[in-house]
Amino acid sequence: MTGPVRTTCPYCGVGCGLKVTREADGRIRVEGDEAHPANRGRICIKGASLAETIGLEGRLLHPEIRGRRASWDKALDEVADGFARTIREHGPDSVAFYVSGQLLTEDYYVANKLMKGFIGSANIDTNSRLCMASSVAGHKRAFGADIVPGSYEDIDLADLIVLVGSNAAWCHPVLHQRIVERRASTGLPRVVVIDPRRTASCEDADLHLPLVSGTDAVLFNGLLLHVARSGRMDEAFSASSTEGRTGALAAAADSTPTIEDVAAACGLDADHVRAFYQWFAVTERVVTLYSQGINQSSSGTDKVNAIINCHLATGRIAKPGAGPFSLTGQPNAMGGREVGGLANQLAAHMEIANADHRALVRNFWKAPNLAAKVGLKAVEMFDAMARGEIKAVWIMCTNPAASLPNTGRVKEALATCPLVVVSDCMRNTDTTQFAHVLLPAAAWGEKDGTVTNSERRISRQRPFLPPPGEAKPDWWMVCEVAKRMGLADAFAYDGPAAIFREHAMLSGEGNNGARAFDISGLVDADYDSLAPVQWPVNQAAPNGTARIDRFYTADGKARFVAVVPRAPAHPVNKDYPLALNTGRIRDHWHTMTRTGMSPRLSSGEAEPYLEIHPEDASECELIEGGLARIESRWGATVARVRMAAGQRRGEIFAPIHWTETASSSGHVGLAVNPARDPVSGQPELKHTPVRVEPYAPKWHGFALSQSDLVPDGASYWARALGAGFVRYELAGDAAPADWDVWARRFLGAADRAGEWISYRDTRALQYRFAELRAGRLTACLFIAPRPELLPPRDWLGQLFGRTSLSPQDRMGVLAGREAA
Ligand code: SF4
Repeated sequence: MTGPVRTTCPYCGVGCGLKVTREADGRIRVEGDEAHPANRGRICIKGASLAETIGLEGRLLHPEIRGRRASWDKALDEVADGFARTIREHGPDSVAFYVSGQLLTEDYYVANKLMKGFIGSANIDTNSRLCMASSVAGHKRAFGADIVPGSYEDIDLADLIVLVGSNAAWCHPVLHQRIVERRASTGLPRVVVIDPRRTASCEDADLHLPLVSGTDAVLFNGLLLHVARSGRMDEAFSASSTEGRTGALAAAADSTPTIEDVAAACGLDADHVRAFYQWFAVTERVVTLYSQGINQSSSGTDKVNAIINCHLATGRIAKPGAGPFSLTGQPNAMGGREVGGLANQLAAHMEIANADHRALVRNFWKAPNLAAKVGLKAVEMFDAMARGEIKAVWIMCTNPAASLPNTGRVKEALATCPLVVVSDCMRNTDTTQFAHVLLPAAAWGEKDGTVTNSERRISRQRPFLPPPGEAKPDWWMVCEVAKRMGLADAFAYDGPAAIFREHAMLSGEGNNGARAFDISGLVDADYDSLAPVQWPVNQAAPNGTARIDRFYTADGKARFVAVVPRAPAHPVNKDYPLALNTGRIRDHWHTMTRTGMSPRLSSGEAEPYLEIHPEDASECELIEGGLARIESRWGATVARVRMAAGQRRGEIFAPIHWTETASSSGHVGLAVNPARDPVSGQPELKHTPVRVEPYAPKWHGFALSQSDLVPDGASYWARALGAGFVRYELAGDAAPADWDVWARRFLGAADRAGEWISYRDTRALQYRFAELRAGRLTACLFIAPRPELLPPRDWLGQLFGRTSLSPQDRMGVLAGREAA
């Protein structure tokens, strides 16, 4: 047994510490690290299933140029030459990097340094733009810097927790567990959930406010007014530490004069709104946790500021148990912000628009070519590519062909871009198929660096496995390309520790307390043994900072923002009468390239689905368990129908995780509108007008197989991993001429010796087939005219774990049920 290696979970922004041990038999054991302050030993099912996801299935193991294996030298030359040529011929703004909140801080730092410092363009943006850019913009408007004032500790100290636009029970499970456990033992905190959907987070809440999608700013403007009218404002704090209160109150009074107005606009019960307002007004220790439901909106920044306004008005900010708190989605969304991974930032939280900051970074990096203007934000970047303005792009550690809105347009852009470089740990993603150059990246467990979680806590991600094949860390690839572009001196790092040290030095350069992000206290820290610590970490705070109780505006005062609520950019209409909301589910992460490898995580949800209120479903003529087509102006997708009484009428929900590699048509990004917030550039992923109609194929079915299948002949399919088998849910628009012939070809059985048993009722469109080899079940297929006529999958799935079928099992196989 070796270990344990102390590292950090690669999934959500909670940033749980993990202990990874390699057992004597080679197996990997993953546990929560009780010494890590973010989780104190707790982990959720995604973290607990990590050991199932570290196999090499699907990994990209060698560089490729135009689909052919290449040496690292050739691949790096191709990238460097391609970028240099494009820059020479079309200027620095003709190239771009699209990076990721999954990158480690050190990877992010060098990518940003190369693009902004030496290429001379700010065209580097990150998938974190889709996740928390509105929070960044709201923080800067209110606090003068991108700071989360509080700590997770405040969640343990609060008497009231307001969860708004956040299904923390699924998306930040360990934080939610902290709340639930404390409530179970002490009865506190009181919990209010503000969300159009009745989610898992509502199950342990005192009050759920299912507001109309997009009306959050109305609700919080109303709260601001209520706090003022009930005499609960902190007058001393407002006078000494804030500006702009009068304007914010006037805007709130214009938009929502009374609680009844608020209730009507938000579609809520006025008594419930009143109860929430009263609880907020009289409770000193309030934490408002907010996430994608606030950020992913064409008015996301205003919504963030509407929340912050209420905390500024009551002075409940950066105090024990009190403050607004943005929960980041990704493991290193915060680290990306620190190094300037967003197109409108420089490194170390400095601003491109600030000439002093530009001069400081230019001198520090010795980079005379430093970018002088902001670059293209995520959606803008791919729009520019579609117009032919971006001619070379390097996509690192992310899958924009699946995750951006209006992905049909993104794919068109990638298909026409003259040079697409993708560095990824997986060979086949929706994005890698467009790559001219593929660079194999090291994955979690192989990478070495740091990440920062939602509470500003920097933690180490440590390797416990060697990179397989020729995989390399992202920082190494960026530095090698930079060296080939003639920048060897600026990128001569011997490892991530050297990069982190430079990053820490830059954060302290000319700082003197003027900038919030300062980790100069870590310049000489021992990188290998670096303990989790919250920034700022400097001479004044050598052990880090739990709460940031000052503001970084010119006069040191926080700013209220006058918020005029706006409806979503594209309202529902008679052609597209339902609002599509997208989001995460408990057991999957992003585009499932990792969680899809875990049978435990994949067993719960095997295919894309949509949740719809039963009355809406009835109006749309949908049936529970049937298939439906979701169509918007931008594209269409197909998903399994699930009735959900907790879904607001007029709104539907669909998960974001299914891609073209996991399903034929369940990729919801195809239908999502590209509208974005004018301040933050964050897309409106929570509100797209759609119509929904039944998709009625001729047949439904499923196949379980020991090996992967090529689902030709099915007009709908979705793939999920089981324990010892792969599961395909299927549907088809036409029945084959001969089911036996089709089944054997579909299952790959025609080419191998085996025992086949089948049952057919052509008139009833019932067909069942099983293949056994050496007494073992190796594949089965079930077809029926309606999905409810198909047998359950569980018992059949269990048979794949048996080395041979008993006579009783064989009797039950074609029935799909254990024989009596
Ligand atoms: Fe990982 Fe988030 Fe779960 Fe913690 S809560 S184990 S960081 S997915």
